[in-house]
Amino acid sequence: MARVPVADGVFTSVDDPRLIGSKCDNCGNHMFPTQGSCPKCAGTSTSDVELETRGELWTWTVQGYPPKAPPYLGDADPKTFQPFGVGYVELPGQVKVEARLTEADPEKLKIGMPMELTLVPLYTNDDGDEVVTFAFAPISENGEQS
Ligand SMILES: [Zn+2]
Repeated sequence: MARVPVADGVFTSVDDPRLIGSKCDNCGNHMFPTQGSCPKCAGTSTSDVELETRGELWTWTVQGYPPKAPPYLGDADPKTFQPFGVGYVELPGQVKVEARLTEADPEKLKIGMPMELTLVPLYTNDDGDEVVTFAFAPISENGEQS
């Protein structure tokens, strides 16, 4: 069984994932996911960049019921669905990234807490491979994912 990314061009690899964003060649604005034009200055020249792997939780919520599938690719069966956290993580000096969170307990999520990029399994495809997507996990003061 292999781990395969849910989509191409979102993160660099399953072994050492970095999110792939765009940087505006004109004003330096960062975007995620990649975009060919800049919403800030309307520039039309952007370059792909690897984004920071750590940031701060900007805001969050808990997805307590299955999202509409499609486009949702994970387990949408109300009987087996597991709630998950969703939030925006602000990558320092770059961009706010909307992502799944590994933590779904409201008691354990705080605005401003440090977060780190990780990958989580989404579903198993017809080849038996585990399809993974990116998420952010809380990290403790000593830098470990909790
Ligand atoms: Zn720009």
